[in-house]
Amino acid sequence: MMALLRHTKQTIAKFKHISRILISADTCICNEVSRRNTRQFSTTPDISLLRHLKTRIKLNGPVTVAEYMREVLTNPLMGYYMNRDVFGSEGDFITSPEISQMFGELIGIWCLNEWMQDGHTNKLQIVELGPGRGTLADDMLRVFSKFKEAKDSVSLHLVEVSPTLSAMQEAKLTGQDVKSMPVKPDKLNDNNKHYRECISKYGHPVYWYKTLSDVPRGLSCFVAHEFLDALPIHKFQKTDRGWCEVLVDSDDSSTSELRFVLSNGPTTALKVFLQVDPDDSRDHIEVCPESGIVIQELSSRINQDGGYALIADYGHNGEKTDTFRGFKKHQLHDVLKDPGSADLTADVDFAYLKKVTENLVKTYGPITQQTFLENMGIGVRLQVLLQKASTENWKDLISGYKMLTDKDKMGERFKFLAILKQKDSNYIPAGFVPPNVMNSMESQKIKK
Ligand code: SAH
Repeated sequence: MMALLRHTKQTIAKFKHISRILISADTCICNEVSRRNTRQFSTTPDISLLRHLKTRIKLNGPVTVAEYMREVLTNPLMGYYMNRDVFGSEGDFITSPEISQMFGELIGIWCLNEWMQDGHTNKLQIVELGPGRGTLADDMLRVFSKFKEAKDSVSLHLVEVSPTLSAMQEAKLTGQDVKSMPVKPDKLNDNNKHYRECISKYGHPVYWYKTLSDVPRGLSCFVAHEFLDALPIHKFQKTDRGWCEVLVDSDDSSTSELRFVLSNGPTTALKVFLQVDPDDSRDHIEVCPESGIVIQELSSRINQDGGYALIADYGHNGEKTDTFRGFKKHQLHDVLKDPGSADLTADVDFAYLKKVTENLVKTYGPITQQTFLENMGIGVRLQVLLQKASTENWKDLISGYKMLTDKDKMGERFKFLAILKQKDSNYIPAGFVPPNVMNSMESQKIKK
């Protein structure tokens, strides 16, 4: 316990040093408050996606929920994410980086702290999966630009399937007007697998890829915020005749035109992916194999090349059943209605993620967003921003803080999981240090 305290104390001292530099730096970007606003975009339901799905079902029979979700969200021509900006108060949902700059800044500090702990001698790739509007990446790069070492050694690698969102991300990261940003056709370079590149307004090189496997190897800090919940899930239901898979079928008798049905017997996906522990009493289970593949790939990279990962999403520890939801204009939306016009999402199963990383890396958490942000010093950061902000921005800063940390808002539903190469069995990454350990260290300091 003493060794743990000593080690954690060193970690915290270094972490505090970094966060102090950031907090005292003149990074109060009060106009950041107003920039979290929205853009215009089209929300016309895509009837042709429904037609496409119905034709497919007519030809080949019902599709799995995973196939349905993949088509609805990322069909290259008509997928929900592919052609529009879906975020913000005028979109369908709002995410933490869009609510407050403090979120991305603290994640930036987390990455920087881990890299500093490693001696910051090697170049660092920040790899963000599913960057949305690019706001989180932009806030992180602003943090890195305050540290000379990070300014020169950090490159950003974005895994993004949507050409429209990649254009929007480039506009954000370069500080250009999004209207002047072409939605370029994919251009894969022979040697490198990126389809887009630019230099950020802070001078960091930025590259875009379709999948994680295209990102070059090397010391990396992986960040995935609200990415895994967008990956396709399979749904399994326990019935009198054993476990069946939930499928999506055509239904010409109802207005939604699609309906859920159960498979006649075990499907291939059921045989491959459903593993029910003897003490699991659930009669409905969702499995997201793609999230397992992503986490396994980044864990094996961390194991071989070194590095760190921070996974943040809403999720559970393997106890929830039906979490498949649609969101349109910030309201729940029938997942089978007007496919392509609403976001589809399912809670992340953190227990499953931890299982697939076994023997490769060490995991920490999941802990709640509130705990992570409070441990990272969001309260202090808020104070600094308030001191520098004009009074009309105070309300936004405080409501952003509350939205991110309040238990009944995003503070408890969202969870953070860290993945690190096993260094020292006593090491705990910043943000994951339990408050009681922190308190006992603080009281030791006072006694001295
Ligand atoms: N992290 C952002 C946005 C989350 S929304 C935020 O917090 O604001 C999900 C993001 O993942 C979008 O950018 C979407 O285009 C991208 N995405 C969804 N499925 C993907 C896939 N299979 N491969 C790569 N990117 C994907």
